[in-house]
Amino acid sequence: MSSNRSLLILPGDGIGPEVMREVRRVIEWFGKRRQVSFDIDEDIVGGASIDAHRTPLTDKALDKAMNADAVLFGSVGGPKWDNLGFDMRPEGGLLTLRKELDLFANLRPAICFPALAGASSLKPELVTGLDILIVRELTGGVYFGEPRGIETLPDGQRRGVNTQVYTTSEIHRVARVAFELARKRRNLVHSSEKANVMESGLLWREEVTRLHKSDYSDVQLQHILADNCAMQLVREPKQFDVIVTDNLFGDLLSDVAAMLTGSLGMLPSASLGAKDASGRSKALYEPVHGSAPDIAGKGLANPIATILSFGMALRYSFDLPNDADLVGKAVENVLAGGLRTADIMQPGMAKVSTGVMGDAIVRELDKLTT
Ligand code: NAD
Repeated sequence: MSSNRSLLILPGDGIGPEVMREVRRVIEWFGKRRQVSFDIDEDIVGGASIDAHRTPLTDKALDKAMNADAVLFGSVGGPKWDNLGFDMRPEGGLLTLRKELDLFANLRPAICFPALAGASSLKPELVTGLDILIVRELTGGVYFGEPRGIETLPDGQRRGVNTQVYTTSEIHRVARVAFELARKRRNLVHSSEKANVMESGLLWREEVTRLHKSDYSDVQLQHILADNCAMQLVREPKQFDVIVTDNLFGDLLSDVAAMLTGSLGMLPSASLGAKDASGRSKALYEPVHGSAPDIAGKGLANPIATILSFGMALRYSFDLPNDADLVGKAVENVLAGGLRTADIMQPGMAKVSTGVMGDAIVRELDKLTT
């Protein structure tokens, strides 16, 4: 029987398949216990696809991704493929997916579970209960702007050029995502740029202000210069709810925010495209971490980032906020109970494997619903 919810799973390389195995158990639990089922397809990507098909993403896998409601992506890459040419890099699979699905809004939550507050580089009272969301523009700005390149000048010096460029529609579509998400959260958006020294930043500020006035005046909007935003994130992070920013500043600010919460193994992300006529966006969900070849196959990987990425899919692609909350709560309770994978191990806690962490989360889901 069709579930009307289609999910493409791309486990990838390294620890990708190991952590995805635990996510599949969570997905199965939702099918059995909450009658929330999915039409699941799976394919290979990255190094695994290079080995099998000599390309990091086949047309068939891309086609499946284009037709799925959501893609759940593990991680790609590893030393085996490090010396291949640029078009044969495992990362090419992810970049193609982002480009072809036109995933222009990258959502990176920074949530600090109380049990891990001690693992932050900030004082626990500054991060306990932290819940912020960075919305980064992902397909424009200085990483893609033309002209770009390195040239040799007549006097023999070399000159490197990149161009920061944004249009009204690029700014509006990502700001819309931020305003709409804020409405479902604490209703506050900080828009971050460098309007004091960059024309593209000034345009960003003016266009966000214009959109806010016309369509989102019920949401509180504050403008903040990107350098101040970085400072405020480490000074008093709980003042933020949603931060919307461009590709370059978003790259930096989301990594700063991420580290407030502890380990890479805990961080989920979502990348969303434009809404179609039925209101659905193309979407890809993935942990922030890579394929961690140093620990692959040893049962050491933390599956929580990928499990929380599935939680984001429940929230943003399938409109199931209560089920998404359930995933978050199960993770929170398991951590409060003292279980830790090696990457988040603390004194006095019980060190467990990838599989035992997955078991514990599924058991906690049971407990929370009986
Ligand atoms: P990485 O994120 O794979 O690993 C960095 C460190 O964090 C390693 O010590 C690793 O063991 C640890 N770590 C990462 N995830 C963990 C988890 N879930 N549980 C426990 N520990 C975890 O980054 P890297 O070492 O710079 O890159 C390794 C490979 O991954 C490279 O080939 C790189 O190109 C690729 N990569 C892929 C993606 C992606 O697929 N989106 C992102 C980043 C890096």
